[in-house]
Amino acid sequence: MNKMNFTIDNIPFGIFSVKNGRKRLATIINDQVVDLYALADLGYFDDLKIKKSVFKNDFLNNFISLGKDKTKAVRKRLQEILADPTPKITHPAQPITHHLNDVQLHLPIKIGDYTDFYSSEQHATNVGKMFRPDGDALLPNWKHLPVAYHGRASSIFVSGENFHRPKGQVNASDTTLPVFSPTKRLDIELEMATIIGKNNLIGHSIDVNAAEDYVFGFTLFNDWSARDIQRWEYVPLGPFLAKNFFSSMSPWVVTLEALEPFRAAAETQKPEVLAYLKEEKRHHFDIQLEVILKTQHTEGIIISQSNFKNMYWTVAQQIAHHTVNGCNLNVGDVMGSGTISGKTPDSFGSLLELTWGGKNPITLPDGSTRTFLEDGDTIIIKGFAEKDGIRVDFGEVKTTILPIK
Ligand code: MN
Repeated sequence: MNKMNFTIDNIPFGIFSVKNGRKRLATIINDQVVDLYALADLGYFDDLKIKKSVFKNDFLNNFISLGKDKTKAVRKRLQEILADPTPKITHPAQPITHHLNDVQLHLPIKIGDYTDFYSSEQHATNVGKMFRPDGDALLPNWKHLPVAYHGRASSIFVSGENFHRPKGQVNASDTTLPVFSPTKRLDIELEMATIIGKNNLIGHSIDVNAAEDYVFGFTLFNDWSARDIQRWEYVPLGPFLAKNFFSSMSPWVVTLEALEPFRAAAETQKPEVLAYLKEEKRHHFDIQLEVILKTQHTEGIIISQSNFKNMYWTVAQQIAHHTVNGCNLNVGDVMGSGTISGKTPDSFGSLLELTWGGKNPITLPDGSTRTFLEDGDTIIIKGFAEKDGIRVDFGEVKTTILPIK
């Protein structure tokens, strides 16, 4: 994959700080982080009637809450300002731009609620075959509703933050007794996260054809999973401690507007879905994704290449279903797409699938092998969309496994 390249067509939003400085809003162009508070201080957004304080903030939530008219206008203004390759803007008291290596990037969103879907048919089929070898791979509800669980918002961290191997109750079969152990099956889930950009009131469902009004943008997302803990705990109420110990998010939120050129038609669903899930126009987003595994002794190797369009349920359907009962979504809620697996084995989005339950180890350049992750291993997820000379990069989400505490 090419080097990260944040173009004028992208203009994502994030949160940065310099040493001893307060957190501020930023965008990024090439490798330059642009300080939006400094621009606001120079009056660049005055005519948009946005308070300067919105740009000096720990999170993007207040900015997103201004609504799409304003956030789109800010993005357009930034494209005008940054179109000049040698910008003449200076501030008497502070730099406008910083090199990416000179700043710290932070979690972009104060996440209220986090829901994780299960919307790739190939992933659900693969997992079903492994977890329920004697039954149908897909459960009867799967093609009628986008299955999901409520996860834990406060254990989502930004790229570069690492975690210690989790421990818990595991049981290798249903006929033995459980034991307490560090997880031996620590896994990734290659996902995208939808960042909700608008509230709906409790009791008010969102129409599937208006659902994108509620999307601010997307990040890369790694839904870390402990498969041995999951296997023993997940029936009957779904994932709990196998998932809530840590999740990882990339620092730049790419807006829905930046992804307009990358809409990809989605297949017609069979069987037909209920009316509230029927879309006038179905589409996914063509975003290329890859997972890199690096150990303490090897360079990184690509272990999976997938695409955000490898989904059965669209983001709009996920939102419509999430709110059909009157459930409220709020600015800053995060919806994980679910593991994004393609049809071919090299496009599977988890080690569970890539190694088929640990049966087919991955061989690394130094001859060592992996089924699940070992201490010191690093996982990097990258993503970008590219078409007709337009490139929209998501950057990366990078995490290293630390030994058990
Ligand atoms: Mn997941």
